Amino acid sequence: MNIVFLGVPSCGKGTQAEFVSKKFDLVHLSVGELLRKKTEDPCDPLGQGIKEKINKGFLVDDTLIMQKIESFISGLSSDEGILFDGFPRSLEQAKLLDVLFLKLGRKLDCVINFELDDRGVMEKISGRRSCPECGKSYHIKFNPSKIENTCDGCGSKLIIRQDDNNESVNARLKAYYSFTYPLIDYYSNQNKLIGIDANQDIESITKNIENIFIKTP
Ligand code: ADP
Repeated sequence: MNIVFLGVPSCGKGTQAEFVSKKFDLVHLSVGELLRKKTEDPCDPLGQGIKEKINKGFLVDDTLIMQKIESFISGLSSDEGILFDGFPRSLEQAKLLDVLFLKLGRKLDCVINFELDDRGVMEKISGRRSCPECGKSYHIKFNPSKIENTCDGCGSKLIIRQDDNNESVNARLKAYYSFTYPLIDYYSNQNKLIGIDANQDIESITKNIENIFIKTP
């Protein structure tokens, strides 16, 4: 099974991807996480270029994204299903994924669209805390860590992501509506799109997704 999670920044797709990938034995591919790992070396000019784009809320170039995606998928065996979190983010990327899947003999089974209005985005983003080590996301109100400011998974100190500031969030929302939003029609025309209300609590969203997965042939 190969699944795409689609939605505005901070709609909760990363949190859900973590739960359901474990439960349904899928490989979780968070492109944002993959890119952030590339930015850790201050002497790597490519990584620093990516960092600048991420912090400004701009999309990273398709060529680089596709290289990362292709090299990630080629490291998997053909029977391992993938849960794409944050990819594709544009029509161009969606078309390139179709080509790649055709080449690899894979099929995209369904696309889950996390529906959240801009007010919900701001509320979720303003309370988000992230683990710089393992990438796990928290929310001070909706999904707090067991010990304040400490990652439940690896014990690292939680941070506010550099791109979770007003300026970058506005740019990310703009990028979402310009480039990602058209994917709703693209996948709906292929009868692959299933919408879920991302305003619910975490457990209810997980249940909705599990029901979708169980029904997906
Ligand atoms: P969010 O969904 O909250 O924006 P992500 O971790 O998914 O967080 O993405 C963070 C940033 O990484 C994006 O704002 C963008 O700069 C970059 N990025 C992630 N996925 C892609 C992609 N598929 N194409 C281009 N850039 C991406």
